[in-house]
Amino acid sequence: MTEAHAKQGPKRRVVIAGGGTAGWMAAAALARTMGDAIDLVLVESDNIGTIGVGESTIPPLVTYNRLLGIGEADFMRATQATFKLGINFENWRVPGESYFHSFGNTGRDHWSAGFQHFWMHGLSKGHTASYDDYCIELQAARSAKFAHLPDGRINYAYQLDSGLYAVFLRKLAEADGCRRVEGKIAEVLLDGESGDIAALLLESGERLEGDLFLDCTGFRALLIEGALHVGYDDWSHWLPCNSAIAVQTASVRPPVPYTRAIAHDAGWQWRIPLQHRQGNGIVYCNRYLSKDAALDRLLSTVEGDVLTKPNVISFTTGARRKQWHRNCVAVGLSGGFMEPLESTSIHLIQRAILRIIRMLPAGSISPRDVAEFNDQQMTDMEQIRDFLILHYKATDRRDSPFWRQCAAMEIPESLTHKIELFRETGRVFRKNEELFVENSWVQVMMGQGIMPQSYHPVAKKLSDTELGHLLAGLRESVAKTVAGLPDHQAYVAQYCGAQ
Ligand code: FAD
Repeated sequence: MTEAHAKQGPKRRVVIAGGGTAGWMAAAALARTMGDAIDLVLVESDNIGTIGVGESTIPPLVTYNRLLGIGEADFMRATQATFKLGINFENWRVPGESYFHSFGNTGRDHWSAGFQHFWMHGLSKGHTASYDDYCIELQAARSAKFAHLPDGRINYAYQLDSGLYAVFLRKLAEADGCRRVEGKIAEVLLDGESGDIAALLLESGERLEGDLFLDCTGFRALLIEGALHVGYDDWSHWLPCNSAIAVQTASVRPPVPYTRAIAHDAGWQWRIPLQHRQGNGIVYCNRYLSKDAALDRLLSTVEGDVLTKPNVISFTTGARRKQWHRNCVAVGLSGGFMEPLESTSIHLIQRAILRIIRMLPAGSISPRDVAEFNDQQMTDMEQIRDFLILHYKATDRRDSPFWRQCAAMEIPESLTHKIELFRETGRVFRKNEELFVENSWVQVMMGQGIMPQSYHPVAKKLSDTELGHLLAGLRESVAKTVAGLPDHQAYVAQYCGAQ
């Protein structure tokens, strides 16, 4: 540690390198929660710009905004956001079929067994309703309806313009005392003795000295990799897509409250409807599809006038071996990337930031804090990784070399265990505050064609009449709730229009 480090100075100097979604999310949260205790500066380069994608989110972002005291309607107006109730996966198990991964709970769990056990018992007794009929969020999404319900009975996230979100957060952060510096980082200067980062040297000659540095420089990873060389675990043998092209188009129909993930023969395409336009992209493996063919496919399938130049992005799925090393923490794409299939990147940014705030050193950085941070962040990433691999591995598609490779690939033992446990018993267990809860795994496993061979005997304790009442009551309650919801677009317009 540097001498500056060891000092219990009145204000810790925190330097954020990069002003994309990661940089400004970090700046806004640190300025709001720790503004008096730290000296906060963010440097970003207008010439380099940001990656310019990342529009679909998951429910914890609602909590993050609340923690920052952000008014939801203000935020939605500023970012042209719509509500999101889940993702519709099309053509994943076989072409022509789809399933929905919703943010809601399906049915009602018993403490000893998830609802799927009761639903399966119902199937064995001749009840034919689909598992989907028991989930408010899923049925609301399919009917393009939405409203806030009392007691958080509808669980949702947002589809947003991430560029506008960064602008919105910048205003908050600057109002709370974060100093913004525009300029290009020319060099990362290390302390000769300790090896910690001492300062960022800008092309202008300005030096930004700090005690703690957040690397939010995106795929460049200028600090954590460029200067500190922590190394990268490549996961592309499990998550084979390595390229994406994004374009924005004009909306041709009212925005639906869900994101579409449409598989094709070498990857998948996304459609994310916002208030003012639609985000579209194609994700693919360049061993099986050329850039030109991918671009043709994207442009020939989008609806509405194309508003932007295609944004071509290459990536290697994986994670930085250490997310926090010495006095530098990677936040955002600098820490790794697992492709956007389940919209988890912004969430990982949020988790990293909240952890940094919890572990912000009062004096010297404790190696135990660093180890704890790395362990927690890596656990999150590995759990998300497994969930994503499931979508590729558990498929009946054999119609292209890409899908044949996915079906044949070896997968991590942690995922094999989860799949086989579910296949044999219908059970899924959530460990270590895992992001994806039991119901997420159940929806995706069944959607991808994995049906349990048995279910928990507790379900059989219900008499036929009790079972019938339970299933009918839950289904009717979902149908009634959804019937009473307003149209999503009308609700967004009214909610965002209301001052
Ligand atoms: P960037 O946006 O790249 O920002 C990097 C910053 O560092 C910029 O401000 C840049 O100017 C600055 N910088 C870099 N070098 C220098 C330098 N030398 N000097 C000064 N400044 C510098 N996530 C989701 O949650 N949902 C999604 O739907 C989703 N879709 C995605 C689709 C694709 C194809 C990809 C690739 C990613 C997607 N993501 C998604 C991830 C999401 O885009 C990122 O997590 C998010 O945008 C954060 O990026 P970032 O801030 O880490 O990097």
